Amino acid sequence: MAINEKNLCVVLNKPLDIVFENRPVPEIGQGEVLVNIKATGICGSDVHYWQSGGVGSFIVKKPMVLGHESAGIIAAVGPGVTNLKVGDRVALEPGVACRMCDQCKQGRYNLCPEMVFAATPPYDGTLCNYYRHAADFCYKLPDHVSLEEGALIEPLSVGIHAARRSHIRAGDRVFIFGAGPVGLLTAAAAKAAGAAHITIADITPSRLEFAKTYCTQSQVLLERPQLGEPNMDYARRTAAKILETEPLADVVIDCTGAETCVQMSVLLTKNGGSVVLVGMGAQVQSLPISEISAREVDIKGIFRYCNTYPMAVNSIASGAIDVKPLITHSYSLEDSVKAFEHARDGTDNAIKIQILG
Ligand SMILES: [Zn+2]
Ligand SMILES: [Zn+2]
Repeated sequence: MAINEKNLCVVLNKPLDIVFENRPVPEIGQGEVLVNIKATGICGSDVHYWQSGGVGSFIVKKPMVLGHESAGIIAAVGPGVTNLKVGDRVALEPGVACRMCDQCKQGRYNLCPEMVFAATPPYDGTLCNYYRHAADFCYKLPDHVSLEEGALIEPLSVGIHAARRSHIRAGDRVFIFGAGPVGLLTAAAAKAAGAAHITIADITPSRLEFAKTYCTQSQVLLERPQLGEPNMDYARRTAAKILETEPLADVVIDCTGAETCVQMSVLLTKNGGSVVLVGMGAQVQSLPISEISAREVDIKGIFRYCNTYPMAVNSIASGAIDVKPLITHSYSLEDSVKAFEHARDGTDNAIKIQILG
């Protein structure tokens, strides 16, 4: 493949300020590949960095290339690379772990303290023409899986990791808070894991309309709390209302991070069931601990994913999981700012917005 000299990068210069920079095409070393990025999904975290300059404890202190949900074509391979060749189509796993520490050796490399993750400060992201990446974190896509589908493997991985950590078994009843891309892909992963009935809840009616057509059996429209109503009062009142029509769930997965949803998650879980926390909200939240103790509800944290890409590629390739319906809009790399504005506003029933390069 001929490598263009042009390497247009979408750079977050400072909060609310996205600029385009033509940066040199990266040099690659031992075990690395150069990927011509073709499709990148915009994630909530990208929008957060752009709007506020930070996500949780990660703060943007210098200009940073955005984007981490990408797929592309191998443009060059470095010395020692045997698993890939020029022209291969790949999905990029955007976090490269050290491969040496206890967590890495135990296979929980998402918890590696040395993790280098695209578009997480201080590391540049993938929203560019050419991205240098570790060959062992690139996953070949079968011919019939598109690069657009490949760019959805990153958020799908979050859903697969959540479904795995929750130990969903065939026949389980699963309740999910949040019908955005991660909630929907978690539903897809739960279904593929054997869940018999999946309920999804959100405050946005259009998202639930979409969810009706995607991997869920029932949809719950949440009202907003009344003015001045304490969160736990709202959670108890709303959970009781949901339980009028829904049985308790084996597994509840929160993809919102909202304290009220985490509280309801506990109240909607069967005795001995699991609550899985995918969403990241306020750093400190209050929970109904007596319920957690007396009913042995297991609370499990989720940090990204690990060892999920091969399963995600296979699930898409086999048809077990269909990610295509989630891609509602796409923009050219040059129109990235428009794409980010669209993702921020969420207009026109947007689910996943992609930038195609
Ligand atoms: Zn993401
Ligand atoms: Zn490590």
